[in-house]
Amino acid sequence: MGILNWFSRKKKASGVGTPDKPSGAASQDHGPLTDALKTAGYTVRQRPASQEAMVDSIVQAMRARQTSISEGTFETGEKNPQRILCSDNACPCTDAQPLVIGRTAYMYISQAVVDFRKDCRTLLERDMMLERAAKTMGMSALLVDGGVANPFYLCETGAKLRGLDLSAALADAKMVAETGFAPLRTTPRAKQ
Ligand SMILES: [Zn+2]
Repeated sequence: MGILNWFSRKKKASGVGTPDKPSGAASQDHGPLTDALKTAGYTVRQRPASQEAMVDSIVQAMRARQTSISEGTFETGEKNPQRILCSDNACPCTDAQPLVIGRTAYMYISQAVVDFRKDCRTLLERDMMLERAAKTMGMSALLVDGGVANPFYLCETGAKLRGLDLSAALADAKMVAETGFAPLRTTPRAKQ
């Protein structure tokens, strides 16, 4: 995925777990590094206010890690998203129709996402990995990796173009929206 793709990605809705609007509290000045991290799927977190909150978030991350490993899933973040749009840059749709879970919202889990997330099941681990990559390899590494950190929602047109098994992609979208976790495997292909 090259730099062109990175720019065009910005036209469409962002992937799972990345809200359309930046959540007010966390909008400090955005350096290019922060932008690149966000493009790659990095979640801007508020630093826990107290030691208790810090312990809480660590306990939460450990729980998420255990759950995802025992259930063969990985953490995607945002549960019950308010608005789901087609985030597939390869999809020709332009109507920006909100997608409906269980009816028109599909999920695409690529091999690249599985390869990347098998070693960082939780968002915490994933963000640490992205941050490390940014420091050691520079921003270009993140541009290349843009979009592999999380799966994304897409419309039926996009799902068909990618040759996905529609009922599986529909079920995956539902699972991600309801639980904040996705199965650690690629979306099954439609039967020929
Ligand atoms: Zn579409």
